Amino acid sequence: MIEEEILINNERFLQQPPLPLVGHTPRKRMAVVTCMDCRLVRMFEDALGLERGDVLEMRTAGATISMPERATASSDLIRSLAGGVYLLGVRKIAVIGHTECGLAHVNPAMLTASMQALGVDPAKLIEQEGLGDLNGLMRWLGAFNDVHINVCEVVNVIRNSPYLPRIPVQGYVIDINSGKLAPVDEEER
Ligand SMILES: [Zn+2]
Repeated sequence: MIEEEILINNERFLQQPPLPLVGHTPRKRMAVVTCMDCRLVRMFEDALGLERGDVLEMRTAGATISMPERATASSDLIRSLAGGVYLLGVRKIAVIGHTECGLAHVNPAMLTASMQALGVDPAKLIEQEGLGDLNGLMRWLGAFNDVHINVCEVVNVIRNSPYLPRIPVQGYVIDINSGKLAPVDEEER
């Protein structure tokens, strides 16, 4: 069982010297939005030189805000950023997409086959939730074609959100294999 493994590891962790006490206000006064990709685990912080207590980390599938949520400007990501800004002193935001993202180039046929194999009927869901068609389902999922464009769009949604003050928001793409971070050039988009 996965759970047993986690509990055994946790026991081992607790044998170590206690962690230093760190406040919940991010030292760098920064929030970092990135993806849920498993290859970012531990690599992401090392690649950016981030220590425990430095930044707020927020992860969504694709480091994105899905189309339906962009329209209402009140996504869970915006809510989390608002909490970071108003309650925890965040004054700058970085949106960091990555290469080889699972939300890029999603194959609709594979998506629906995977849902069906797990007992979820895509057609029924699209109907029930008023998604319109398969493209609507893809938009709900947050699927995109170009990671650079996606990062730019998310940066703009955050910059224009009525829930947030005007603070710096920058976009980047990290190479999932090398860890190289590159700013997204907004002029080119
Ligand atoms: Zn990803």
